[in-house]
Amino acid sequence: MKNGLIFLGPPGSGKGTQGQVLAKNLQVPHISTGDMLRQAIADKTALGEQAQSYMDKGELVPDNLILDLIRERLSQDDTKNGWILDGFPRNVAQAEFLDKLLLTINHQAKWTVNLEVPDDAIVERLLLRGRNDDTEVTIRRRLEVYEEQTAPLISYYQEQGKLHSVDGHQAPEEVANILQDLVTA
Ligand code: AMP
Repeated sequence: MKNGLIFLGPPGSGKGTQGQVLAKNLQVPHISTGDMLRQAIADKTALGEQAQSYMDKGELVPDNLILDLIRERLSQDDTKNGWILDGFPRNVAQAEFLDKLLLTINHQAKWTVNLEVPDDAIVERLLLRGRNDDTEVTIRRRLEVYEEQTAPLISYYQEQGKLHSVDGHQAPEEVANILQDLVTA
């Protein structure tokens, strides 16, 4: 795969799980901005310190903290055969930034996958997952932020003819099969 895949979809829709499976099968990196930020917090870096309060509240971290991170990550050698983005872009400004960046580094986002899962199933899944930011209040806020800022990317990518909607409310193995077929078609 010389092309990238972007996962859209609300928190808890399975982006991380499916991203890891696909990345392993395709031997490309799974790039999760959420994981990178959690690592920065664990490492007590300046980025981690700045990001933490936003993440604890379920808000998006300001774009200026994320854009350099993603530029640097996508420019690393291991992305030359492709990549899977999980959690980026999260708003239209980030998507526009990514489009420009990909042009300059000669990559392309070939597929954008929207994993569709009903809200009540999401809340249930996230409460079971039990990450630091998986409290009921924060989950509710993250879903609102998704609707306000990230869901507009569905039409953004639809207009580019790149959107694939996948029913994420089924067994992970079923979702993985659908995605595998998509990228090998
Ligand atoms: P995630 O692991 O993708 O659910 O992300 C966890 C948290 O990290 C989010 O609730 C945001 O606070 C922050 N985050 C992750 N990716 C981004 C991004 N692309 N832009 C802004 N904030 C992000």
